Amino acid sequence: MQIKCFTVGAFQVNTYLLVDEPTGAAAIVDTGETDELVKQLCAISPVPDIQMILLTHGHLDHAGGLVALQSRFDVPTYLPRKEIPLFETLPVQGDWFGQPAFNRPCGRIDYLVEDGDEIQLGNTTLRFISTPGHTPGQGCYYDEQDIFVGDTLFYGSIGRTDLPMGNSAIMQHSLQRLMQLPGHLRVHSGHGPVTTIAHERQHNPFLTFLRQA
Ligand SMILES: [Zn+2]
Repeated sequence: MQIKCFTVGAFQVNTYLLVDEPTGAAAIVDTGETDELVKQLCAISPVPDIQMILLTHGHLDHAGGLVALQSRFDVPTYLPRKEIPLFETLPVQGDWFGQPAFNRPCGRIDYLVEDGDEIQLGNTTLRFISTPGHTPGQGCYYDEQDIFVGDTLFYGSIGRTDLPMGNSAIMQHSLQRLMQLPGHLRVHSGHGPVTTIAHERQHNPFLTFLRQA
């Protein structure tokens, strides 16, 4: 699978273009909050054969650009089922940060994914693991080499749990499960650089609770 990262918008969120190379089938992971990603995708020649949009969670910097993206790429869109309550707050999330200019319409969701679900992208099978805590239903999509974790895990850090619907105890459980995945997996986060499961297992200061066992 070929991966290209586009860091977009005021929140500098990482969005990803995934291409299953033999078939050319492409997916987008997260949207940013503007139409910047759409512009970048349309500047690629030829424009990728985007067949699906995968959302990790419902925060405005990850899902707020959905309507803009769907207006150009009208393809099936996936959201973690438990994320619906947060996703539905997109029209008011800007207000939470005192930035009503960031309020966004919700966009259309076609499929609700749950832990263990599999999604076929050309010849690539993407699996979904539910990792709530940063939000009520955030989850990650992964194949044998790469995992897209949204704001669950960062290089040397983890997602905050102090925003509405966050929960730190649930987050710890999610991180515990995530760290049981193969160490070689390259971790593509919602913000910041690429890392691996093994690197974070060993060095992430927010995961010391796992190493004390
Ligand atoms: Zn977030």
